[in-house]
Amino acid sequence: MGNTVLIVEDERAIVEILKFNLMREGYETMEALDGETGLELAKTKDPDLVLLDVMLPKMNGFDVCTALRAAGSAVPVIMLTAREEESDKVFGLEAGADDYITKPFSMRELLARVKANIRRRSLDAGTRGAGEHLLQLGSLFVDLQAVTVRKNGTMVDVTQKEFDLLTCLLTNPGKVFSREELMTKVWNYDYFGDMRTVDVTVRRLREKIEDDPGEPRYIRTKRGAGYFCEIDN
Ligand code: CA
Repeated sequence: MGNTVLIVEDERAIVEILKFNLMREGYETMEALDGETGLELAKTKDPDLVLLDVMLPKMNGFDVCTALRAAGSAVPVIMLTAREEESDKVFGLEAGADDYITKPFSMRELLARVKANIRRRSLDAGTRGAGEHLLQLGSLFVDLQAVTVRKNGTMVDVTQKEFDLLTCLLTNPGKVFSREELMTKVWNYDYFGDMRTVDVTVRRLREKIEDDPGEPRYIRTKRGAGYFCEIDN
């Protein structure tokens, strides 16, 4: 079981991109689109970390954090603050947040903060789950932390996008992704057009990881729908 991150944020697009990137790193996610729901989930579902926006419907992030600490929770909280509002950082820390990150944030930085804050707590708690970042499909091993792919013990050279595509499919076994979805998720929303990019990347990846790229076992095609990873292989 991976660590669970609770995302409290009212902007759907941000929630989706956070979810995707966190899941790709091996985290499980929960989400709340308003402060009250966020507080409730944080108190009852025992997440390993909370990403907390400031401007939220029903209850703002400062009040959520204050109430959470008042309820005795020690969960790491990272506030998502607006860059212009220098005072937000101070308020957030005073409300009991562990860390803050300013919007618009770099995903790499955010993931690093998430990892650092969860690790800190894990060290505090004296526990560390090993191997949580390792995915397996048949003779294929994908290490999300080291960003490596091995087949039958041999390292396979993949590009970043090939790796991202593979982990996207692997972390959602059985789910069929359309080329548009993959374009959005793997190429991070900034695509201009050509869906053949997906097909080409899938083809190259198959040539690297499949025994017979013509009869793929790992990355399957659902005719007219898209691509998926087989669950039992
Ligand atoms: Ca907001």
